[in-house]
Amino acid sequence: MMYRPLWIEIDLKALRDNFRAIKRRIGNKTGIIATVKQNAYGHGLLPVARELSRMKTDFFGLESIEEAVILRRQNFNEPILILTAILPRFASAFIQYRLTPTIVDINFARALNREAKNKGVIMPGHVKVDTGMGRLGLNCREVFDFVLDLKKLRNIRLEGIYTHFPAADADKAFTKQQIALFAALVEAFKKENIHFKYIHCANSAAIVNFPESYLNLVRPGLILYGIKPAPRAKLAVVPVLSLKTRVIFVKDIAEGATVSYGRTYAAKKKTRIATLAVGYADGYQRILSNRAKVIIKDGLFPVAGRVCMDHTMVDLGGRKDIKAGEEVVLLGKKGKREISAGDLADWAGTIPYEITTCLSSRIPRIYKKIK
Ligand SMILES: *Cc1c(COP(=O)(O)O)cnc(C)c1O
Repeated sequence: MMYRPLWIEIDLKALRDNFRAIKRRIGNKTGIIATVKQNAYGHGLLPVARELSRMKTDFFGLESIEEAVILRRQNFNEPILILTAILPRFASAFIQYRLTPTIVDINFARALNREAKNKGVIMPGHVKVDTGMGRLGLNCREVFDFVLDLKKLRNIRLEGIYTHFPAADADKAFTKQQIALFAALVEAFKKENIHFKYIHCANSAAIVNFPESYLNLVRPGLILYGIKPAPRAKLAVVPVLSLKTRVIFVKDIAEGATVSYGRTYAAKKKTRIATLAVGYADGYQRILSNRAKVIIKDGLFPVAGRVCMDHTMVDLGGRKDIKAGEEVVLLGKKGKREISAGDLADWAGTIPYEITTCLSSRIPRIYKKIK
């Protein structure tokens, strides 16, 4: 039973179509690391991973070993690249769960090598280079010696090298410079007879904007979920997630009456207010107060006053045909109207990533099956 009318609908066919659109764009020489970290950007790890597995993704990309373990326990067999630095004392988890580490730290590499030797296995690893993100990885000058050191560890097989872009959606010149740096580095390794099976750098924005960044793997996240890195991005993807609720109460208020905490909304004239079963504890952020709009029937209605912990009010204006029980689209499409994760992000002063990943995991996800 769902007593509280708040739910997320996940369109798995859209996910499949987006995967295909990415495949068409990158061509058949390049593979895909499907990035499903943080509960698949809030879409639900297991159903999303199942669909991507059917679509024959080459890798999964995750940040947490916890989520990787969830996939392994469900018998996913794809390689899983952990896209972060893990402390040396957890190196054994990579062997236990057959995970591929990002290697940026020699102490981690030594711990992994020791554990692998004990177990009699050879572990794969991807080295990360920092070409301008300033987060994880060695800079171009350090990485050469680092790789030579790693080569001495006999139970590690360096199969990959990668880098990441901080501004592939916004700074063309900087990204091009990063791509050139990375390419030069790979060439320099080749000259020393050091070859990597997997060379990758492209996130969603780079997949859209920089074909020269495809190399032999790409790492899409956002566009898999049908969210464009920029509104005018040229790639046909369809949003996968919708967030819906219902009107649970309707009332008339007089001119001058105020709505919600802090009394930030005052009716300019007699109007009708609908109360919705969604609030900031669900991830419908408080900053959306007096800013966001919702779709009910064929209309767009503004949030009136502050978003509460589990309630939000909207001003129905003159509409008399909207009653308790009516469906409300908070994120998604209805008829000709649409509210995208990008719209909500603009109203909230954030990015669409934060909109979908902050939707509470308590909200039921309903998966529309593919017929
Ligand atoms: C999350 C992540 C991605 C995916 O980024 P999108 O912008 O969602 O495509 C790619 N690479 C790394 C290292 C990441 O952490």
